[in-house]
Amino acid sequence: MVGIDIIKDKCVGCKACLAACLYGAINLVEKKAVITDKCTLCGACKESCRFSAIVSERDERQGSDLSQYKGIWVFAEQRYGKLKPVSLELLGKARELAARLNAKVTSVLFGHGIEFLARDLIAYGADQVLMMDEKWLGDFNDRIYGELMTDLIKEHKPEIVLVGATSKGRSLAPYISSSLKTGLTADCTGLSIDDEGLLVQTRPAFGGNLMAEIVCPHNRPQMATVRPKVFKPLEPDYEKRGIITRIQKEPIEGLVKLIRNIDNAEGQSLTDAEIIVSVGRGIGSAANIRLAGELADALGGVLASSRPLVDMGWMPYSRQVGQTGKTVAPRIYIACGISGAIQHLAGLADIDTIIAINQDPEAPIFKVANYGIVADVKEFLPLLTEKIKQAKKA
Ligand SMILES: Cc1cc2nc3c(=O)[nH]c(=O)nc-3n(C[C@H](O)[C@H](O)[C@H](O)COP(=O)(O)OP(=O)(O)OC[C@H]3O[C@@H](n4cnc5c(N)ncnc54)[C@H](O)[C@@H]3O)c2cc1C
Repeated sequence: MVGIDIIKDKCVGCKACLAACLYGAINLVEKKAVITDKCTLCGACKESCRFSAIVSERDERQGSDLSQYKGIWVFAEQRYGKLKPVSLELLGKARELAARLNAKVTSVLFGHGIEFLARDLIAYGADQVLMMDEKWLGDFNDRIYGELMTDLIKEHKPEIVLVGATSKGRSLAPYISSSLKTGLTADCTGLSIDDEGLLVQTRPAFGGNLMAEIVCPHNRPQMATVRPKVFKPLEPDYEKRGIITRIQKEPIEGLVKLIRNIDNAEGQSLTDAEIIVSVGRGIGSAANIRLAGELADALGGVLASSRPLVDMGWMPYSRQVGQTGKTVAPRIYIACGISGAIQHLAGLADIDTIIAINQDPEAPIFKVANYGIVADVKEFLPLLTEKIKQAKKA
């Protein structure tokens, strides 16, 4: 059953549910209520039925004992034997949540030639690592990884499953949650445990104008993807002991065959950068972006942008900072001709120093900046780049 259903034997055709339904989603056919696809699953019909003839999927799930679900799982994303920082960040957060729940933290690691990573996962917070090290798992495949995760979750019943909101995590997590018919909150920026022991998943909503707190009370596991750089990893402790469990399963065929990996040719990753020079609409033209690029080169930093430049095709999407782009946490963020809209600021996490260059002294970016320069970026950037080059020579 998906949603709400009528138990025909119990239905007496009293029409109480028809009257209760605000959406006209119930018809009477041969003196029995029938739910149509107008149903919004609001449950008003169920409450109106004196004969207990209406049941919901939620009842069935509540009937299944949620207390058997225990522990927190973190999917360990790796590429070419290197763990994605977000997986380590999630392990740190999982430890904090586990302390509230008195639960264990398990990390799930798939790949080929990755056995050595299990030690790192334990050092960064896992109590246990469930590992599959197989040739046929060498390349990420959402269907294969998703099926394996689904099977393992059914077998071990974790209470919470956390996945990094990377491009891979964003395709893996929905595969798992839809297979298990459980909830998934995407792109979380905060996680905590409430007084009832539920995972409170915080994420921006309505264009970043409010933060939504989402819980998943009736289904398990509670699943969330979390943006990179939102949480800090723990200091690794290589003295820490943990259990490494090697799992073996029959190979699964994927629907998609990977022919070739093409590495991102755009250089250093934005999410790992220590210094970011970011351009906004105030730069004036695509040609002027070069001015910010030269400053980034002089500083050994990385070039990024606000969304309008991506929308105009001046910058690739992979360089967009903000709510619908990347979350970044460099030591220094230099915002050049960026107004400081809330959706842009949503991508700035835990930055030591923000320097803003804007010709409008009232620009909102100055409210969050540590240093503000009221100037025309086109004039100021070449001067700053030149000064930095001279200082490096001296
Ligand atoms: C659902 C949703 C999601 C969004 N996601 C994102 C996102 O992920 N990232 C993002 O960035 N935006 C996002 N936006 C867009 C966001 O609302 C802003 O429109 C955008 O951030 C503005 O970009 P900007 O600061 O470059 O441009 P503007 O707001 O146009 O600001 C340009 C600034 O440059 C200054 N300026 C102009 N000329 C000069 C000059 N010569 N020298 C110095 N300063 C100058 C101006 O004073 C102004 O402050 C999103 C919007 C929505 C609705």
